[in-house]
Amino acid sequence: MIKSRLYSIQSKLSMVFLIATLIIGSGGCLSLYFSTQLLSATQLFVETTLPTITDANALHLTALKIESYAKELSRGNQREGLENTYENMSMMLDNLEDLTAGISQKESHFDILTLNWLSQAIRNQAQLVFQLEAQLLVIHVQEQHKRQSLLFKLGGNPVLINDTQGLKVLEGEPHAVIHEFVIELLAYLNQLDSIENSEELKDLETAYAVSRQSLADIAAQKRPGSYEGAASEMLEILGGVDEVFAMQRKYFHMEGSIRVFITELSDQVDQFTQLTNTYVFEVFSHFQRSAQLVMERERQSLSLTVTLMMSSIIFLSILYWRIVVHGFGDRLSLISRVMGTGLGKENVEKLPIEGRDEIADMARAAKDLLGKAEKLNTMARIDDLTQVYNRRRFFELAEKEARRVARRASSTTLVMMDIDNFKMINDTYGHSFGDRVLVHTAKNCREAIRTIDLFARYGGEEFVLLMPETGLKEGLGVAERIRRTIEKMDLATDSGAFVKVTISIGVAEANLAEVTIDQALIKADQALYRAKELGRNRVEIWDPAEPVEGEDTTV
Ligand code: GH3
Ligand code: MG
Ligand code: MG
Repeated sequence: MIKSRLYSIQSKLSMVFLIATLIIGSGGCLSLYFSTQLLSATQLFVETTLPTITDANALHLTALKIESYAKELSRGNQREGLENTYENMSMMLDNLEDLTAGISQKESHFDILTLNWLSQAIRNQAQLVFQLEAQLLVIHVQEQHKRQSLLFKLGGNPVLINDTQGLKVLEGEPHAVIHEFVIELLAYLNQLDSIENSEELKDLETAYAVSRQSLADIAAQKRPGSYEGAASEMLEILGGVDEVFAMQRKYFHMEGSIRVFITELSDQVDQFTQLTNTYVFEVFSHFQRSAQLVMERERQSLSLTVTLMMSSIIFLSILYWRIVVHGFGDRLSLISRVMGTGLGKENVEKLPIEGRDEIADMARAAKDLLGKAEKLNTMARIDDLTQVYNRRRFFELAEKEARRVARRASSTTLVMMDIDNFKMINDTYGHSFGDRVLVHTAKNCREAIRTIDLFARYGGEEFVLLMPETGLKEGLGVAERIRRTIEKMDLATDSGAFVKVTISIGVAEANLAEVTIDQALIKADQALYRAKELGRNRVEIWDPAEPVEGEDTTV
């Protein structure tokens, strides 16, 4: 019964723990869900945002490079590296095309069309600038070449410059004038080197026009001799100088147009840089949003896990307290209370409603068990038929008495009794009648003795009696009283006949400080033997040192 109740508590516990496990399990699933969300947010962040940032970065760098190459193009004094610059820039523009093709595949609000259009425009504009610059270079080189040959002609002509033969021929004023003009022409040509813009060129041209006119006038006079040759040569040189000036004009004019184109190119590059910056900004915002999402998910996941852990611990603690500590403790104290006060209906009704049956059952079962144990214990002490002490218990108590009196001199009387002709009673009236004789004999014997006397069934139809603090005389009196009581006992059989029962008794006095219980009993038994021998239904004493004189022991 108790076992089954314990099983029921155990199953309740298992149920509660199952529920706890379910709660924790579902919490764990929720936590797992948030972790998955966190994972996917992180994945999105890594797969989408990071490459986009790399793209934005590359786009930004490309824009900056294109910008720097565009500036390089506008620097006129580095024309030698023009081709290199243009090639680098083209390469960057190619890169840009690849990059924009990649970006256009991705999801974004970026104005990829404008970016493409601008990069194309920049490419065209740069190409134009390059072509013009190349032409400018050609003009520059031609002009330099022309000027050098003129300078050589003027500086290296002995007729015109030095006091040579030709000059001797051209004696007089014209020669000096021509010489002066040559010096002037050289000065103009040399000044061309330091001219920086078309304004300055114009001033120089005005000055040159005056000198040129004078020289042309002199040459037109057509003086004879070598002067004539010199004059025609002069005109030819003037044509050359005119050409140099024209080239220089063209150069400045072209340079002006290139500057306009370069300004346009710079504008386009500016727009382009701004556009890429917009993209970078957009990507950065997206990056921020993604990172925030990841952080948010992480926070949710973490707080849920912590809450779950805390509530699980609290929940399990409460369960442990309620069921194990409180619940079991309660039940145990109730059970012991019920057992202590008895299991009356009123006691059971005092129990709390919850678990009343269970507690009552357990208490009842425990009480049953105790009853059985007590019965077993009694069986070990009491003779089942006659309800007096059995032989074993007799010896236990007798030894105890012996120990008690061992320290002082005290007399004890021991008595052995045996029902006479009991076999015959059994044989004549039946075994159950014999049992009744035994029961009544024992009952009458007990009524005839004191409560401190120790009376027991010794075996079969034999009984034993130990009387503490009792001398032989007194003991003999008790034995005789017993004998007479039994003799008077009338027992009716089933057939209605009355049967007389007699008992023979042997008495011995003993000092238990000196002799053992067994020795004392042998003496009493010898006396009993004698009582049987002497005719039964009598009391005999065993006392060889002091035989009862003059009278037989029969009273
Ligand atoms: P005596 O006068 O010499 O003592 O003769 P007796 O017949 O009493 O002696 P004996 O010892 O031969 O017989 C004892 C009988 O007691 C034998 C046995 O069957 C019977 N007996 C022993 N225990 C019980 C019992 O518990 N119930 C019954 N009905 N008979 C018992
Ligand atoms: Mg006998
Ligand atoms: Mg007998």
